[in-house]
Amino acid sequence: MTTAGRGTVRFQVQTTIGTAHGDLAFRAYRDEITGFEHLAVFRGPLGDGALVRVHSECLTGEVFGSARCECGPQLDTALERIAAEGGVVVYLRGHEGRGIGLVAKLRAYALQDEGYDTVDANLALGFAADARDFGAAAAILADLGVRRVRLLTNNPDKERQLEEHGVAVDELVPLITGVARDNAGYLGTKRDRMGHVLPPDLGHSIGRP
Ligand SMILES: [Zn+2]
Repeated sequence: MTTAGRGTVRFQVQTTIGTAHGDLAFRAYRDEITGFEHLAVFRGPLGDGALVRVHSECLTGEVFGSARCECGPQLDTALERIAAEGGVVVYLRGHEGRGIGLVAKLRAYALQDEGYDTVDANLALGFAADARDFGAAAAILADLGVRRVRLLTNNPDKERQLEEHGVAVDELVPLITGVARDNAGYLGTKRDRMGHVLPPDLGHSIGRP
């Protein structure tokens, strides 16, 4: 069992899977606080200064290619980077819709069809704009022997959250991919209302384009 910050995970199993990005190690954990099963997908050797993506599960984006968000292309690009350079994708289950769950995420999409942006839709449903906790990610990184990371993200809040859980972020490595007509408004909101580091020409911040 490994604890870091407010997270505690228990290692379950490790195996190697051939993927579109070559052979990658899959290491599974059970989250002792939430019960979710998380993954570390990596190409070693790992250690301090590793390239790390902490990725939140998104069924619609990753399995169905939803154009509402950029999670699918981000995961794909992150796997491509770690396969080429070495590093780890920490894949967190239970993080749908920034932690509100799959059904609530679809409810938020329905509200967005009425003109809410991604932040106001979560708030209207009674959730925080971002309800995710990254304690499990910190515990998984600790188990992998990674205390300092180069973090693949556009989200400075993720850096703050990981640092609160004891992970040192040496560098933010941009991950700008998957920008499309349908998600330009969503990305504009993440830039304007959530502090993400994204290009200025993504479009407006209210509602969908
Ligand atoms: Zn998504």
